[in-house]
Amino acid sequence: MEKTGTVIESGKFIPLSVPSIKGNEWNYVKECLDTEWVSSTGKYVDLFEEKICELTGSKYAVATVNGTSALHISLILAGVEAGNEVLVPTVTFIAPVNAVRYLNAEPVFMDCDDFYNIDIEKTIEFIINETIVKDGSCYNKESGRKIAAIIPVHVFGCAVDLEPLIDICRDRKIKIIEDATESLRTYYTKGKLKDKFTGTIGDLGCFSFNGNKIITTGGGGMILSDTPGIAEKAKYLTTQAKDDNISYIHNEIGYNYRLTNIQAAMGVAQLERLQEYVDIKKKNYFRYKKLIDRINGLHLAEVPGYAESNYWFYSLQIDKNIYGMDKEELMHYLSLYKIQSRPLWYPNHLQKQYRNCRSFRIEKAIFYHEKTLNLPCSVSLTESDVDYVVEKLKNG
Ligand SMILES: *Cc1c(COP(=O)(O)O)cnc(C)c1O
Repeated sequence: MEKTGTVIESGKFIPLSVPSIKGNEWNYVKECLDTEWVSSTGKYVDLFEEKICELTGSKYAVATVNGTSALHISLILAGVEAGNEVLVPTVTFIAPVNAVRYLNAEPVFMDCDDFYNIDIEKTIEFIINETIVKDGSCYNKESGRKIAAIIPVHVFGCAVDLEPLIDICRDRKIKIIEDATESLRTYYTKGKLKDKFTGTIGDLGCFSFNGNKIITTGGGGMILSDTPGIAEKAKYLTTQAKDDNISYIHNEIGYNYRLTNIQAAMGVAQLERLQEYVDIKKKNYFRYKKLIDRINGLHLAEVPGYAESNYWFYSLQIDKNIYGMDKEELMHYLSLYKIQSRPLWYPNHLQKQYRNCRSFRIEKAIFYHEKTLNLPCSVSLTESDVDYVVEKLKNG
């Protein structure tokens, strides 16, 4: 429950993460309305998909109504079936875990690393020690269930250290579905994945264009793949699996998951400003970092050195014994100054509906959940807003 308090200053409200709509959004959306191309086909849907391919180097991209539906369809395309297991991080927005359940498959929860990402070392340890390979597929020794896929989530825009996972997953036929919903434009700068963008490395990758993401279409998503058949099938399944447009023949269960032309028009306009958004986010990150790391008991989470992040979110780590307040007290204190902040997601392996699922050596997720508070990070955040937030953190 959120404590109520009296707002102390009458200054402006500083939200956690809100969109910026100041480019060609109006022009492109107006064109959709003027031409009456408002639904799930039209030039902007194609253009948005093309532009995402251009940016990321993906061969194919299929636009969807949101990131969750992109994950749902990706799991189907990866061959995940009822009763299979899918490895997921416990630290993530709950959407990818729910998508596993949409297929009546079982999530198996993994711990996080120091970037809040799925802990690759522990995950590999799990695969090596807790599974066996039978007829080329991978089975959980304890449950006997097939492990069909893994969903690494690039949390807060930070790339997961995917390189060590690729071979072991290929060997054991564990499909990799990247949840890159928070990491549009993040790319690797070192190792074998150098210059590759998040979302283009696994068998499938998913983006989200929800209102709080780095670019937004109001609601929207995208499925990435380099395999022609897979992209075609993604389009088929997201448009009600129409086998014959005229006589309404459907040979499979389909979904109404396509993005509309109006939303895609907004996406094209937003993409034009992505680089500018990342530049602002990066600048604000380093300003926060410099000032916060000087405050006793506070630290701003690092970003991985093996990738160029999109700096989507800023995670404040609080040592309450030194700082004097814990994350909830600080969240309340900041709210008195109209500064919005939010804790890390509640660990998913502890959520009511997933409490009985298997989880593997989860330690850091609990530690970081205790001490993390996310700070305002919108692209409209000015330097003086950053300074204002830091001043309140200092006095807190
Ligand atoms: C936003 C988000 C999603 C879901 O995207 P929607 O477009 O909101 O459905 C999935 N996974 C993560 C990690 C997210 O942050």
